[in-house]
Formats: sequence, C-alpha cells, structure tokens
Amino acid sequence: MRGLAPAGASSLSMKLENKLKLSAACVIAVMSLVAIGPYFLNAQVRGVMSELKRASAVERQYATMLTLLADAEAAERGYVITGRAEFLQPYNAAVGLLPALRTNLRERHTGTAERMVLDQIETLTSKKLDYMAQVVKTRDERGFEAAQQLVDSGRGKTYMDQLRSLIGEQVSDYALHRADLRETLTSSADRAASLASIATLADIALIIAVLFAANRGLRQRLAAESRANEASEQLRTAAAVAEKRNLQLLGGGDMLQALELAGTTDESAGIVARFFHRLLPGLSGSIYLYRNSRDVLERKASWGTADDAEFIEPLECWALRKGSAHDGGHAHALQCGHAGASDAALPRLCVPLVTQGNVIGFITLQGTALAAPDSADDRAWILRLAEQAALALSNVELRASLRLQSVIDPLTQLYNRRYLDETLKRELNRAQRRGTPVAVLMIDLDHFKRVNDTFGHEGGDLLLRSVANILKQSVRACDVACRYGGEELIVLMPDCGLDSAAERAEAIRAAIAGLHLSYNAQVLTATASLGVAAYPACGGGPELLVQEADAALYAAKRDGRNRVVVAGTGAVD
Ligand code: GH3
Ligand code: MG
Ligand code: MG
Repeated sequence: MRGLAPAGASSLSMKLENKLKLSAACVIAVMSLVAIGPYFLNAQVRGVMSELKRASAVERQYATMLTLLADAEAAERGYVITGRAEFLQPYNAAVGLLPALRTNLRERHTGTAERMVLDQIETLTSKKLDYMAQVVKTRDERGFEAAQQLVDSGRGKTYMDQLRSLIGEQVSDYALHRADLRETLTSSADRAASLASIATLADIALIIAVLFAANRGLRQRLAAESRANEASEQLRTAAAVAEKRNLQLLGGGDMLQALELAGTTDESAGIVARFFHRLLPGLSGSIYLYRNSRDVLERKASWGTADDAEFIEPLECWALRKGSAHDGGHAHALQCGHAGASDAALPRLCVPLVTQGNVIGFITLQGTALAAPDSADDRAWILRLAEQAALALSNVELRASLRLQSVIDPLTQLYNRRYLDETLKRELNRAQRRGTPVAVLMIDLDHFKRVNDTFGHEGGDLLLRSVANILKQSVRACDVACRYGGEELIVLMPDCGLDSAAERAEAIRAAIAGLHLSYNAQVLTATASLGVAAYPACGGGPELLVQEADAALYAAKRDGRNRVVVAGTGAVD
C-alpha cells in the first residue's frame, strides 16, 4: 500500500526543495558580497592612507626645507657680523641637505601643478643659496662692510619671503588635501559600516524567510502526508472489509450448498456450526433447536470455547422471548440463562432461527470480536446468515420427515412394504456378495377378522400397534421390521442364520400370545403364526426367501396356527 504514497506530498517537497535552494543561493551571494566588500573598501582606504602619508611627508619636507633655509640665512647673517666660521655650520648643513630634500620632494610630486610650484621653489631656493654663497664669499674676500651692503640690498630677504610664501601655500594646499583625504577616509569607514549593516540585515531577513518557508513547507508537507496516509489507510480498510465481505459471501454460499446435501437435522446443525466457526474465527457459539414437544430446546452443535447448557427452556433466551436478535454485549444488557459460567462475561449475540414466521431455535455467539468497531456490519451479515441457516435447517427437517413419512406405516410406525422391498433387495445382494446369512420372519395374526368383528376396527388397530411394539422391542438395531400389508408383518434380519431366526420368531410368537390388552373393559388377546426362512440355509436363492417364509407361514396356519414353521424343516413348538 506504500504505492499509494502521496503524489501531492512529493511535488510539494520538490517545490519546497527548490525554494530552499534558491534562498540558500541568495544567502551565499549576499554573504560573498559582504566578504568581498571589505576587500574593495580596504583597497580604497589603503590608497587614501598612502596619499595621506605622502601629503604629510611632503608637508614635513617643505617645513624642513623652510627651516633649513631660515637656519642657513641666520647662519649667513651671523657669519657676516662675526666673521667666525663656526657660525656657518647651519648654512653648510642646509647646503648639504637641501639637494637630497629637493630630490625627495620631486619624487613625491606626481601632479603637474604641484611640480610647477616645486620648480618655482627650486629655482628660488637655488637663487637664495647662490645669493647666500655670494654673501659668504664677499665676507670672506671683501670683509664685513661689503657683505653687509649686499645683505642690506634686500635680495636675500626677497628670495626668502617668496620662498616662505610659495612653501606656505604649498603646505596649506597639502593641509587642505589631507583634510579631504581624512574626510574620504571617514566616509569610506561609514560606507563600510553601512554596507556591513545592510548585508547583515539582508542576511538575517533572508535566513528568517528561509526558515519561515522551510517551516511552512514542512507543515504543508506533513499535512499532505498525513492526508495521504489517512486516504491510504481508508483504502486499506475498505479493501480489507471488501475482501472480508467477499469471503463471507462465498462462505455463506458454500454453507447453503453443503446444507442442501445434508441428510439430517444434526448433520445440518454441524455444517452450520463449522461454517460459522470458519467465517467468524473470533467467535464461539452454539445452535439450539426446539424439540418436537416445543417445551425444551436441545443444543445440536457447538464450536470454539462455547460451553452452553445442553437443554434449555425457551424462557432462558431473550432472543426467543423477543422474537428478534438479542445483544448481550454490554454490562447492562439482559443476560440469557443458557450462558456457560466460563464465558458469561464475554459479549454475546443471540439470533432466533425463524422460517415462515415459525421460530425453530436460535444461534448464540460469544466473543470479544462482537465488540469490535466493524462488528455492526458483521452483525447484519450474521442475521442474514442465520436467516438462511434457519431456512436450510427447516428444509432438512421437512425433507427428513417427508422421507420418513414415505417409508413409515402411519398406524404401526413400522417400515412399510415399499421400504422393505428396497431394503430386502439391498440386503439380499449384500448377503450373496459377502456370503453372510440373512433371515426373514413372516408373521400373520390369527383370526384377525374375528378381532375386528368382536372389538371393532379400533380394537384391531390397537392390537396391530401392540404387536408392532413387540416387534420393535424384539429385534436388533440392524433388523428391519415392516408391515407387509393388513395384519401381515415381516422382519428382515441381516447377518442372522436360520437357527437364531427361528429362536427370535419363537420369542415373538410367545410375546404376542402373552398379550393381554384391556379394551372397552374387555380383555383383548391374540396369537400369530410365523414362517421363517434363511439364506443360504434354506437352499433356494435369496430372491426366493420371502416366498419360502410365506410358504412356511402357510404351513403354520395349516398346522393349527400360533406356531413357528421354519422353511423346509417343519414346525417349531
Ligand atoms: P387367518 O387366521 O387365516 O389369518 O384369519 P384372518 O381372519 O386373520 O385372515 P383374513 O385374511 O381373512 O382377514 C384379515 C383381516 O384383517 C381382514 C381385514 O379386515 C383386517 N384388516 C386388514 N387391515 C386392517 C387394519 O388396518 N385394521 C384392522 N382393524 N383390520 C384390518
Ligand atoms: Mg390373519
Ligand atoms: Mg392375513
């Protein structure tokens, strides 16, 4: 039944899987951007930082240049005034350091505009250095006055002022440039922080969306799966119920077929019991049928663990009282009196067996299966099956009674001549086949006409019934006692030799002769003549056996009646 697995659930899970894959891809993309972002931002920041360093270095170098020039100028003045060589030390230091400084500055200047300014500064610096060298040289060669005059000319001061102004402008430009760079740095940091925040928020939003989608998908999938499981469970149950019903229908048909072939009521009850047990394996039960007297019911069959009483009175079963099925399945139900002690606590169902409005008995069932959820359907089926069983049982009974009627003589309840003819043929064949003996006693009441004449026909009937009873009591179960016609009776005795038959005949004769019936305040007595013949003792074929017995009977009459004559041997007293 796994084949009925949820198609909807699998397509749902595919959709969910696609959604989750897409969301995961988005999360990875955003996180990658977040990871790459800092790299670009850092590259930018590194650029700004290096530019910032360069600007600071240039600024410092310009300041150093200005300091060196100022120191050199002061040294030149001091030397002019004092003429002492040690005053020239700052000047000489400046002359030594400035070329390297200028080269350094040139290397650090990348823009055309600032190079042009640097060119001017270098030109002025060269001029200033040349001028200072000229002043020093003048002091050395022409003395203080000449050097002082040169200083007083103000050219050196002019150079210095121009340099101060140019370098100051350059330094302030670089200061502005550094401020711009710092601003760029700050905004880069802000951008990086914003980007990181946005990316983090986007990631959180995506993860929440993924979780939400996954949760919703999971719930939908679980619901779809549970619906599919429910549907498949219902299908399974329906299929099991259909299969069970099918088996029950087939079983019911088989039961009816078997009942058709049953010969007796007991056999039919046994068939019903076997089928009920097979078709309702969880239940035990019994079948009761009314006896002819209808004052008592007899248990005809039981199955499972049932231990109901053998005989019960009609009032002991509530189904019989109500004339309909009685459910003794719950604690407060009316309990039937026929339940055995061991299973009194089990759920019980009694169903009357009704045919043509006539209750012929009931079926009682017990077992926990009666309390099962689908037991209502089973009950309906049990009622139908019981109806069919009742019909079949009554048919069997009817058939049996018709069959009996057709072979039983109504006055004497002995077998009739038709039955004798059938049985005789069979028994003679068998005796011949097996080589076993078979005997026939033929009995005729003596002067029976007189009995009728004296006591009336009813008196004669009474005598006939009494003699029939003597026969029934005198013969074995395998013997067949028949009314051959009128007041003539025959006993067929299989496996009985001539001597035993003669003895039995004599006993019968004596019993008849000993009869003293009181009828209408009179005593009615009788005698009978009997002829005995046996195969193979009498020599004739089996087909001649009745004739031989008849001949012996005739001989008994002729010899004076109330006697037994054995065929071919003469009378037995
Ligand atoms: P025998 O000793 O020679 O046999 O004399 P019998 O009178 O018995 O013989 P018979 O054949 O002359 O008479 C038989 C009588 O049996 C005649 C008939 O009315 C009577 N009978 C036959 N069937 C019945 C029956 O069912 N009931 C009664 N009451 N009488 C019957
Ligand atoms: Mg007679
Ligand atoms: Mg007769």
